Amino acid sequence: MKGAVVSHQRSPSAYASPESSRWAPESASTLQSAARAKVTHICVTCGTAYPPADKAPLECPICLDERQYVARGGQQWTTLEELARSHTNQFRAEELNLWGIGTEPDFAIAQRALLVQTDRGNILWDCISLIDDQTIANVNALGGITAIAISHPHYYGSIVAWSRAFGDVPIYLHADERGWVQWPDSRIVFWEGSSKEVADGMTLVRIGGHFDGYQVLHWAGGADRQGVLLAGDLPAVCADRRWVSFMYSYPNYIPLPAKAVQRIVDALQPYQFERLYGAWFGRIVTEDAKAVVERSAKRYLKGIGAVRDGAGHCGSDASARSKPYDV
Ligand SMILES: [Zn+2]
Ligand SMILES: [Zn+2]
Repeated sequence: MKGAVVSHQRSPSAYASPESSRWAPESASTLQSAARAKVTHICVTCGTAYPPADKAPLECPICLDERQYVARGGQQWTTLEELARSHTNQFRAEELNLWGIGTEPDFAIAQRALLVQTDRGNILWDCISLIDDQTIANVNALGGITAIAISHPHYYGSIVAWSRAFGDVPIYLHADERGWVQWPDSRIVFWEGSSKEVADGMTLVRIGGHFDGYQVLHWAGGADRQGVLLAGDLPAVCADRRWVSFMYSYPNYIPLPAKAVQRIVDALQPYQFERLYGAWFGRIVTEDAKAVVERSAKRYLKGIGAVRDGAGHCGSDASARSKPYDV
């Protein structure tokens, strides 16, 4: 793990200003300097990091998608170096063996990552954009990271930089998200199917919906072994934390069809979970979370006219089957 820290500590030089490339022309150092001039650009709206390059990308495909948006005034970029100057990461104990890591002040979507500590290593669930030496030191003090898993493209953040900082750990994404990856890397593991155990009692469950390959992480040992669901955006914890909801787009208020919601409930049926963690600090269903999901699905289906007064089965709405919502 120490080697990983050292490798990251070199990284600030990778974001050096262009002036640093003026020295030692025509020498081996020229190549090194050129490499140093490359910077990691980050989309200001969604927080996604792009591979180190001389120039910022022209656009961010994740923000061009109808589930996100491009801010008024057009696409904006920052860099990992700039972000590290203006922001810090805060660590909060969420429950035994679970830490929240969020950036202050808020950046982009403002989600927080979650670090699950297990006997066989720690899993980072969802990611954030900022990674700096203090963050690496804090995470290492908590046992480091052995694997990363991300619910969906809105929370990729700087996944590859995080992986490298902790010894090139694997990054688990569902194979159906392959087309959304903006920073391709050999550490990314695309898995297929409906579930995958990434560590003892740590199971990725593909639920679809918000994105085709949307996955949640079930932590059997969480909540005093009553089970925890790390959900991110789906099911989404409501302002009234006794409820969750199910959306195709949150910023643009595009609902999911009945069929997709039923699939989510069905996919979660085999798993027990007392608690459910949403994407932001404080967005937590603290108790009886599985029943909350099922109760919320019924309310939602009633709301979109898919069931009458809570009775019957969903999926009868023909309009619900139209693209792009099918999963
Ligand atoms: Zn973006
Ligand atoms: Zn999202």
